[in-house]
Amino acid sequence: MKAIRMTHTGGPEVLQWTEVDDPSPAGDEVVVEVAAAGLNFIDTYHRTGLYPVQLPFIPGLEGAGTVVEVGTDVSDFNVGDTVAWSGSPGTYAERVALRADQVVPVPDGVDLDQAAAVMLQGMTAHYLVKDTFPLGEGDKCLIHAGAGGVGLLLIQMAKMCGATVFSTVGSPEKAALAEAAGADHVVLYRDVDFADEIEKVAGVRGLDVVYDGVGKTVFTKSLTLIRARGMMATFGNASGPVDPISPLDLAPSLFLTRPSLFHYIATREELLGRSGDIFEWISAGKLNVRIGARVPVSEAASAHEMLEGRQTTGKVILHHG
Ligand code: NDP
Repeated sequence: MKAIRMTHTGGPEVLQWTEVDDPSPAGDEVVVEVAAAGLNFIDTYHRTGLYPVQLPFIPGLEGAGTVVEVGTDVSDFNVGDTVAWSGSPGTYAERVALRADQVVPVPDGVDLDQAAAVMLQGMTAHYLVKDTFPLGEGDKCLIHAGAGGVGLLLIQMAKMCGATVFSTVGSPEKAALAEAAGADHVVLYRDVDFADEIEKVAGVRGLDVVYDGVGKTVFTKSLTLIRARGMMATFGNASGPVDPISPLDLAPSLFLTRPSLFHYIATREELLGRSGDIFEWISAGKLNVRIGARVPVSEAASAHEMLEGRQTTGKVILHHG
């Protein structure tokens, strides 16, 4: 079969479309023909080496497709089932072997692009608003990069919880998308000082929580916006890793967490619960999944350039022709 395989870390050019061995399932695995692979910012961290991986490496943690082979110990899935997953690498490929306990069935009413789009970014948005800092009616939150893959889903889920949503975005087009998703106050953080703008509306230290997937360029200023005993959830590094801080920077009594999806889908029950909620919201028309671009998986390098160049909105799906 063909796959994107990297033999060393570096720029997008290390993502080579190449012939590799077909996967065969271990006893507890299924082999899936990939219909849609989700592009995620974490794929760029694997590519650059920011998050180390064992080489050679087939990237891609998220996708949806059809089961084509079943391991001897698997009883939950059959050949022909449509499934989705996140967490196991190897998805930038025609086929991938996955542990059956990391795979979920895709219900009717959700297509495979939508399923691939929400397994990583959607479940991230879900755990952030439900468990990291559970949002309640009237809470004020800030969501950086609100027109991104996580961003658009996070805004919608924060609104479902009854929160007032502040969001930053990089262009007027992105502002329109964040507003359409439900954001109450959108700031163009490349043009103005976002902290000043938010303080004008929310007041001094007026936010209950900041959900920050942008990192380096916004982290320090974001801390100044949070109320006593509020929370900074720093969940990503799109602009680079956050610089080291002193505990004193967390006065007044702030909570700082660096959450990761994989600790919030640690049990099968949690995985099925989160994905089940999201699939239900999509089927019921309560959650809009924006597929901003579809790119052939063989051209993953150009998709990485778009994502790192801030040119994407919502989800980028990698597909097979
Ligand atoms: P996005 O679709 O949000 O793309 C990243 C966005 O970040 C860009 O579109 C851009 O939006 C903004 N950005 C700001 N500064 C930069 C910069 N210097 N370079 C590139 N982008 C920049 O990506 P994802 O939805 O895949 O991920 C968002 C964040 O969430 C990432 O940091 C990712 O690692 C993290 N994440 C963390 C998870 C976890 O469990 N911890 C799970 C999933 C994602 P704009 O132009 O509007 O500024």
